[in-house]
Amino acid sequence: MSIVPANPKPSTQRTPDSNGFFGNYGGIFVPPDLEAPLKEIQAAYEILSRSHDFIEELRRIRKHFQGRPTPTYHAARLSKKLGSSQIYLKREDLNHTGAHKLNHCMGEGLLARYMGKKKLIAETGAGQHGVALATAAAYFGLECDIYMGEVDIAKQAPNVARMEILGARVIPATHGLKTLKEAVDSALMAYVQDPVDQIYCIGSVVGPHPFPMLVRDFQHIVGIEAREQILEMTGNLPDIVTACVGGGSNAMGMFAGFLDDPVELHGVEPNGKGSKLGEHSATMTYGKEGIIHGFRCYLLQEENGEPGPVHSIASGLDYPGVGPEHCHLKDTERVKYLTASDDDAVRAFYILSREEGIIPALESAHAVSHAMRLARENPDHPRTILVNLSGRGDKDMDYMIEHYGTGADYQL
Ligand SMILES: *Cc1c(COP(=O)(O)O)cnc(C)c1O
Repeated sequence: MSIVPANPKPSTQRTPDSNGFFGNYGGIFVPPDLEAPLKEIQAAYEILSRSHDFIEELRRIRKHFQGRPTPTYHAARLSKKLGSSQIYLKREDLNHTGAHKLNHCMGEGLLARYMGKKKLIAETGAGQHGVALATAAAYFGLECDIYMGEVDIAKQAPNVARMEILGARVIPATHGLKTLKEAVDSALMAYVQDPVDQIYCIGSVVGPHPFPMLVRDFQHIVGIEAREQILEMTGNLPDIVTACVGGGSNAMGMFAGFLDDPVELHGVEPNGKGSKLGEHSATMTYGKEGIIHGFRCYLLQEENGEPGPVHSIASGLDYPGVGPEHCHLKDTERVKYLTASDDDAVRAFYILSREEGIIPALESAHAVSHAMRLARENPDHPRTILVNLSGRGDKDMDYMIEHYGTGADYQL
């Protein structure tokens, strides 16, 4: 029997208003040159998201190319060791390319093809978004330019190689600190120069309207599948659904499936090494309202309002802003946002690997750690906890072996 939690507050606004706002957050804060190309994407998406042909083609792609639906898996061994709660994992690590990001990249690629675009462009930090988008470009037979800071290019050689093997051009951003922020500048500059043949494809539920809505809609499939699967497996809705939050796309896709249900939703942000600015990337825990990359959100910022430095052991989570819908869901108290530290994630990484034979991405390990904490906390109050396992840990292997070894010391 599932214990249904006290009715959470009803979900509030689900679609952004005509100016692209979820409550106080979101909107379009871009130079005038970018307004028209964004309007074009918005208009095309409004039509295509209702088109039978578009939806049917996306379904076929998900099934035959991506390998969806991904399974939901009962982590019975891990659950038993922790107490009487039951942990379930939505296996986005089994989605083609090994993470959830391909869900929105395939949607963006299909949108581009319907709009008659020739080239997909984006920035990438650690390279995960670049690899997913290069994969989509290859599938659709489109060109692909990925802007990447020169410093990141040096650090992320395997992902640079992947993008190039997939046929993408990796273009170095050589100004400023030569990392993600400069890559965003370069990508947007290139976009403004040719918005007719090119389309900008963002990597999470961030950026100016309509991207937060569009990326959420493409990720919603994760929540839809998981809800159906867990109902079939347990006969009930889960008590708690949890996911890690960087920009917020894997969490938003999962949560979107449960917003109207009496289910607690927990977003897990990276607390890194501590609570000082620069030691973490827990935007909603420590940030305050500001503007970054064309939209308003909770933001980790310096005194002067510039985006602040961030850290997480999981490079996919180290973003100083966060999706506007998450900010709205925090203010309306529909979703609770908590944190897990670098150490928590490392521990969960090894424990899930040993107990279940699943090596998680360090990003996803933050959510696994939170689920383990919940299961331990309440031995007399068993709950069903559904975790979005956003990706696999192969990309983190070299780093983990070098810094933490094989993890034999991490026991339950
Ligand atoms: C990029 C990434 C994330 C973080 O991005 P969100 O937009 O917050 O989902 C999480 N997990 C994995 C495996 C990633 O590659």
